[in-house]
Amino acid sequence: MKRLGVLTSGGDAPGMNAAIRAVVRKSIYHGIEPYGIYQGYSGLINGNIKKLEIGSVGDIIQRGGTVLRSARCEEFKTREGQLKGVEQLKKHQIDGLVVIGGDGSYQGARALTGHGFPCVGVPATIDNDISGTQFTIGFDTALNTVLDAIDKIRDTASSHERTFIIEVMGRGAGDIALWSGLAGGAETIIVPEEKLDMNDISDRLKKGQLRGKKHTIIIVAEGVMSGTEFADKLKEAVDIETRVSVLGHIQRGGTPTGFDRVLASRLGARAVEILMEGKGGRAVGIMKDQIVDNDISQILDQPHSFQNEMFDLSKELSI
Ligand code: ADP
Repeated sequence: MKRLGVLTSGGDAPGMNAAIRAVVRKSIYHGIEPYGIYQGYSGLINGNIKKLEIGSVGDIIQRGGTVLRSARCEEFKTREGQLKGVEQLKKHQIDGLVVIGGDGSYQGARALTGHGFPCVGVPATIDNDISGTQFTIGFDTALNTVLDAIDKIRDTASSHERTFIIEVMGRGAGDIALWSGLAGGAETIIVPEEKLDMNDISDRLKKGQLRGKKHTIIIVAEGVMSGTEFADKLKEAVDIETRVSVLGHIQRGGTPTGFDRVLASRLGARAVEILMEGKGGRAVGIMKDQIVDNDISQILDQPHSFQNEMFDLSKELSI
């Protein structure tokens, strides 16, 4: 392997920059020339490709977003688009590609590998919805951003003795809601992986009111319904006044936490090693603090496992 490419694709996540830095520095350390592909698969098709140096990734480990920028690219979902990408990689004499992104980006990496071009996926999305890894890059930072918001909202909720509904991101996954709800002491957490039981929620609210609870925090994952939809449902069930907060895109930005930077550094470096071993079609991850890699097709076919026991615990602790 003489030249390696790296791109970020799909939704950005804090820690992507730390992963890019790891890929670039690890490559140079081993005498491989790294090339940055700008704007994801769209830049790949258009040949937006530049050689990166040690200094190109200086001063970025602490920055959110992605210096390689990201894009959605419909054309890359077609065979013609993918073949244009392979052509560009060959033109630049690049022998392997590290794809940093979520499951859509992994589909692109799988397709490229299918066309004979070795790719390794690095999981980066705040949603924590990729299998083969306990954590994706960006999840921990998003979790802490949400927690900060919950703590602030709690101040108002308790001063005004109100019920707050906080809508959080996660696409089809409930991890952000579950972890932030447990860490933020939310009374109720609503996630796509667990059945929505309005009777149970109403009972818990009523019990809380009876014992003089001053405030209630309810976390709703966007994959279930919006915060306002849930507020309407709750009003029908128990007729209580609520306030809704939609956290939105603040969850995607910000300085990556120490955990995300370390994770990104380890995963990015391992992706380079796998390409150096002559392997493609793999996806790296972390399991029980060990860096692992799996077949990317298998990863795409399996759903990310939801920690039901943590959900049960959150209920036990918010009686
Ligand atoms: P994420 O990687 O965060 O899940 P997306 O789902 O938007 O984000 O995917 C990012 C990009 O990956 C898409 O814009 C597209 O270029 C590429 N992609 C998604 N699905 C496929 C697919 N089935 N085949 C090839 N490329 C795909």
